[in-house]
Order: sequence, then structure tokens, then C-alpha cells
Amino acid sequence: MAYILSLDEGTTSARAALYDREARRVAMRSAATVPRFPNPGWVEQDANQIWTAQIDSVKETLAQAGVKPGDIAAIGITNQRETTVVWDRHTGEPIAPAIVWQCRRTAARCKELAPQADAITAKTGLVVDAYFSGTKIAWILDNVFGARAKVAAGDLLFGNIDTWLIWKLTGGRVHATDPTNASRTMLFDLAGGDWDDDMLKLIGVPRAMMPNVVASSALIGHTSGDVFGAEVPIAGIAGDQQAALAGQACFSKGLSKNTYGTGCFALLHTGGDRPVSKNKLLATRAASATTAAQFAVEGSIFIAGAAVQWLRDKLQIVPNAPETEAIAQSISSTGGVYLVPAFVGLGSPHWNSEARSLLCGMTLGTGRAEVVRATLESMAYQTRELIEAMESDSGAKLAELRVDGGAASNNFLMQFQADILDTPVVRPADAETTALGAAFLAGLATGYWKSVDEVNAFWRADRRFEPQMPASERDALWSGWKDAIRRATC
Ligand code: ADP
Repeated sequence: MAYILSLDEGTTSARAALYDREARRVAMRSAATVPRFPNPGWVEQDANQIWTAQIDSVKETLAQAGVKPGDIAAIGITNQRETTVVWDRHTGEPIAPAIVWQCRRTAARCKELAPQADAITAKTGLVVDAYFSGTKIAWILDNVFGARAKVAAGDLLFGNIDTWLIWKLTGGRVHATDPTNASRTMLFDLAGGDWDDDMLKLIGVPRAMMPNVVASSALIGHTSGDVFGAEVPIAGIAGDQQAALAGQACFSKGLSKNTYGTGCFALLHTGGDRPVSKNKLLATRAASATTAAQFAVEGSIFIAGAAVQWLRDKLQIVPNAPETEAIAQSISSTGGVYLVPAFVGLGSPHWNSEARSLLCGMTLGTGRAEVVRATLESMAYQTRELIEAMESDSGAKLAELRVDGGAASNNFLMQFQADILDTPVVRPADAETTALGAAFLAGLATGYWKSVDEVNAFWRADRRFEPQMPASERDALWSGWKDAIRRATC
């Protein structure tokens, strides 16, 4: 019996999952990764600790399932995107801590790049922001003693976490990434499919340190025999959100998913057309099951489930996240209360880093239930902003929204989402869509699965939420949200 092994290296943990021929998850284990916050707004991780956590999770997963490394047909890798590692190609040692996607240390540099913003967006599909890898790489080269000289001598390599794991897994033989990760660096020609010399020069990153860009679903290399005792093909790579899109069986134009985790990330597959957003969404690569380029538009909300953690940890008005469902359902409306969760500014489509949170519309009748319900509703309203921007960009209404992520288990939220969007919301039976997407890519590349149609057939709905709210109620609620957003951003 052969299995597909998926490595899912997220922001807070490294996970490994094993899938059988029917794409059933037979085992999954995770090991925590450790963030560090050395300065306000800075977020780092130790790349060696990420590697150790990833390998531990693989060993535990294989042990849990009683599967030998030789029984793995192929490995797929998915990863927290944008997080940046620079290492010495001779020693294999990182020369600095990994700079995590959330880290704001290069915000000032991004302000300096503002005059070039239009050219950067035209080439890369991104807005200029510290979120992406390019300025993080330059920061390491400029701030680690001797790094510029070393990189000039060809001694340093850059990688996002996918590249770092592949390099470690192959014993330093393969230095590669895929288009979904490359498209998050601000250094990648989104349409052309390779590193862009103008962007590399503008941001100060030498081409020689960049990984080869290979297809998301292709044979990339083999694990070194000494890593876990077998030479296993590595055959799939995708950044986490694009992997989730694949795991939701969204391989073609017009299909979309929204992930409700710490933040929310909505992606709409746009097929072979390179999207140009008129509504401040990001244009990015989707994971292609072939060598043909595939694209998506993406909306990123920075705070979604994190607002529920704020209710739990800071306001201390809910004991845990799942309780919010019953609390919200205990009342029929918030009575005009809105929370705009701009705790770290607002992402798409506002891109306003100065905005701060607002709780408004309260009366003496407002209590815990209204605040909890307003917090859950804020995820749905923010998602509607993204979906409206996507629909306006594409000129088409979504047929349905596929959902995943921790907060997608909240039935109140999913029903409210369907109501406020006036679009059906569909939750899959397997919520681990990120790991599943990476498995699909590896399985398709190696013939374990024969076609995208075969893989699509594995996707099953757990529950479908149909819109039920009268249009007049929806419109009134939506206009209240727009008013709240105006106040938070004025
Ligand atoms: P990430 O991958 O970003 O770490 P997850 O997909 O694991 O996030 O989801 C965790 C987030 O979802 C947390 O912020 C948590 O507050 C929120 N969450 C989890 N379960 C629920 C729930 N039942 N209702 C509302 N929010 C939830």
C-alpha cells in the first residue's frame, strides 16, 4: 500500500499528514514552532527549529499509521508564505533568524518604495508591503555583518519555507521553489514566470541567491536517504492559501474558497488569465496541476479568528472559541452594534495600516452577546468586502463559496456569511484543505492520481448553508457595516 505524505509547515506548527488512494487522511501529527518577538512589530522563527519540528511531525505521523518511509509514493509540501530564510550554501546554517510574514521591520523601506508602487504592482501583482519577502531578504543582507560580501561571492541562498525544507530534505541537492511561493516575494514577474531583474535590482537582491522556479506539480527531487531512511520523490509545492484552493478542488476559473483562521484569505481562481485588480486585491499564482500558468486574485484580511481570541484572552468574555456560536445564537441581532477589527490596520481592499479597531452602535441594552455576535459578524462583513471586490474585478457573481479554517466550524458564522453574501456557503468534509492540496499536487505529478477530475471527485461537502435572509434586512445590515468602516478609517 502506497501513501502520499503532505508536509504542512504553518505559522504556529509544522504538520504532517498521510493520505491513501481515496484521499482519506489516515494519520496527522503536528509539532509546535516557536515565534520570537524581539522588537515591537517584529516576528522571527528559528529555521532550524522549523526543520526539526517538521521532521518530528513526519516521524510521528508514520509511526501513528504504522507506515514505513518506503511506502510513501510522493511528498507534497505546503508552507506559511513570505517567511524568509537566508543560509550559507556551504555550511547549511541560516545566517539570521527567519523573518516571519507578519514582521513589520521593513515598513519604512516599503514607504521609500512608494514612488515605484505602480511599476511593482504591474510586474508582480502585489501592493508594496512589508508582508512580502523581497524587502525582508534585503534587510538580512544589509543588517547581518559580512552578508553583502558573502552573497557577492555566491555563498548565500534565499528560500521561503518550502525552499528551505526541500533543500534540507534533499541534503542540499535541490534549491527550488514554485510559482505560488515565488509570486509572494515582490521579485517575481507574475505573467512571465521567472525572477524579474528590475525588481531584484530595485529591492537589492542578487539573482544568484534565488531558487529555481519549478512547477507546483512536478518531480522536484528525492529525499536524501539519511533523512528518514528512503529516497522519496518530492513532487508538489504550494504556498498555504494556494494549497487550500487546490485542496478545495478549485482547479479552474471561477472557483473560490475562503479560509477563516487567524486572518481570512479568499482566493478566486482566474484560470490562465493574469488578473489585474481594480479593487486593491492581490494578483497571484494558483497551483497548477500542469506546467501551464494558472492565476488567482486574493483578498487578505489580517484579523478574523484572532478577534475571537481577543474576546477570550483580553476581554475574557468567552471561555473558548466554539462557545461563541451559542452566545451569538442566543439573540436575534446585535441591535446595531458593529466591531471593525482593525487591530493591526486593515488589509484588502482598504490597505490602511493606520486604522484602528472600533466598537460602535452600543446602547445601555448592549451586553456580552451583542459584542460576541458583532465579532463573528465582522468576519462575514469583511469577507463580503473581498467577494464584492472579486466580483467587480471579474464581472461575475460567485456561484458558491467554499470555506475552511478553524472558524469555518462555527455554524452561526457560516449561515450569517451565506445570508450577508446572498451566496451559498459550502463546508467540506475534510477541513484540512491545505495539507490535502499539497497531497493532490504530489499525487498528480507522480501518477498516483491520474487526473484533476479524479481528484475533484474526492472533495465532499459536509454542509451547505443557503442564504435565507430577506434582502431588506441584508441591505440594512450592510449599510450599517459600511458606516462603521467609514468611521474606523476617517
Ligand atoms: P491558523 O491556521 O491561522 O492558526 P486555524 O485555521 O487553526 O488558524 O483557526 C484558528 C482561529 O479560528 C483562531 O483565531 C480561533 O479564534 C478561531 N476559531 C476556532 N474555532 C472557532 C469557532 N468555533 N468559532 C469562531 N472562531 C473560531
